[in-house]
Amino acid sequence: MSLDKNSTNDFILDVQHVSKMYATHQALKDVSLSVPRGQIFGLLGPNGAGKSTLIRIITQIIRRDGGEISFNNKPLNPNDAENIGYLPEERGLYKKMKVGEQLLYLARLKGLHKNEAMERLKIWFEKFDIKPWWNKKVEDLSKGMQQKIQFVATVLSKPALLILDEPFSGFDPINANIIKDEILEMKRNGTTIIFSTHRMESVEELCDHVALINKSEKILDGSKKDIKNSYKTNVYQIEHAKNIENLGDKFEVLETENVDDHFLSYIQAKQSGLSNELLHHLINQTEIISFQERIPSFNDIFIMLVTGKTTYKNTQQEVQHYE
Ligand code: ADP
Repeated sequence: MSLDKNSTNDFILDVQHVSKMYATHQALKDVSLSVPRGQIFGLLGPNGAGKSTLIRIITQIIRRDGGEISFNNKPLNPNDAENIGYLPEERGLYKKMKVGEQLLYLARLKGLHKNEAMERLKIWFEKFDIKPWWNKKVEDLSKGMQQKIQFVATVLSKPALLILDEPFSGFDPINANIIKDEILEMKRNGTTIIFSTHRMESVEELCDHVALINKSEKILDGSKKDIKNSYKTNVYQIEHAKNIENLGDKFEVLETENVDDHFLSYIQAKQSGLSNELLHHLINQTEIISFQERIPSFNDIFIMLVTGKTTYKNTQQEVQHYE
């Protein structure tokens, strides 16, 4: 399903009908998606769905079997590697090399001049408060510290497109917040970010656009707002003081439970736009403590599409449990 209502058509990356076989396993089946420039694009899907395969094809680490990819409106070519930054989930730094030396080396590989690289590194080392690490060997740093170094290595060359695979894994909440702020800052400066994660709360918070891959196929694609609107179920979550007797035939009480000294009900309207009518019925029967429409979370939508399970309550579980 495609819910793309982006009318500007300014896409930094356009993937059309891409497929990939590994021996006998088809890892990608006819996948098409377009990444709007300057946005944060969430690439979601359970383990084994084919996300990393797609990312490795975009970053030209592996070849696709079929389909077309354009970057900046031209066929993707090896020179584009300089403009595409990739933070893989499996971090790959040289353990024996010193941090500063290594970052300079990686920056040079991305085509940065030594002086320019030094200047940018100075800014990042101050920002992350990691100046004492310059002469340390990577193997002497904790996992979280290594993550920070790899993050710096990925963003240092200011790529136009940044692909981040689980960028928060291994970070404590404080450092995850620092990384999050940096991602938002890069977006403000015009960087396009593809963001692959299992953490639905970061999708809710950061992504403008989302695509979901399941079993090698893209099954959903659209702006966060359009997707959320299209999965609305017209269910209202209401806390009320007294029992509700009669709501007429446009509403159905799905469930009522006792909570402390009041009730919590989930009520479904037969169509959208009936919230005032529902309130009118309720006000005549009970005191209303709270009233809200249940907008599905990305966790709900993800679970529904991947497992077929629907719910009108908030799903709390991490999606990994559903793989
Ligand atoms: P995801 O990133 O969504 O978890 P991957 O793209 O890593 O998924 O993997 C998709 C499928 O392809 C999985 O079933 C995985 O086992 C398989 N796969 C990935 N890489 C290889 C490979 N090099 N050789 C064979 N099978 C692979």
